[in-house]
Amino acid sequence: MYYAEPIARLIEELTKLPGIGPKTAQRLAFHILHMDRSVVEGIARTLVEARAKVKYCSVCCNLTDQDPCHICADEDRDRSTICVVQEPRDVVAMEKTREYRGLYHVLHGALNPMEGIGIDDIRVKELVARLGDGQVQEVILCTNPNTEGETTAMYIARYIKPLGVKVTRIARGLPMGGDLEYADEVTLAKALEGRREI
Ligand SMILES: [Zn+2]
Repeated sequence: MYYAEPIARLIEELTKLPGIGPKTAQRLAFHILHMDRSVVEGIARTLVEARAKVKYCSVCCNLTDQDPCHICADEDRDRSTICVVQEPRDVVAMEKTREYRGLYHVLHGALNPMEGIGIDDIRVKELVARLGDGQVQEVILCTNPNTEGETTAMYIARYIKPLGVKVTRIARGLPMGGDLEYADEVTLAKALEGRREI
């Protein structure tokens, strides 16, 4: 009732984004209303297009606009190794090390019994489906160095070891409790190099 209806609705919609409370939404809304109309239209179009075009890779579950994604489709990548990460941004962190030439698998989350996130809520079944044809020889568990990441790594290790594939975990030395994406490239490359069989 304080704002014109379209402004109130804009503020309301913006609060649907993570980390955006009512105050930030209000500030963003007024900023948007002061921007050039063409710029605002560009942003709106980009949002709609990105959401429409980006999907999950049917192989590695990473976000992509082509299926399979450019990494899964790359014939030069080492197909005997799969690096398992929690989020698409972790793939970017690993790629930046320039040390890893294998494939990926993106879980889209980690096990968290406290929040009710179980095995069916992350992409483990899709990972298992990629194993067992003899091509994949090593699965490197690169989940985050915190409780959820460790729990997830242990669970997956127990689940896939009977399939006869070597399972390794990146070395400790990454800042405990942090996210993979916050590790610098050298630290991450070292953690990868120092991985151990579990
Ligand atoms: Zn892929």
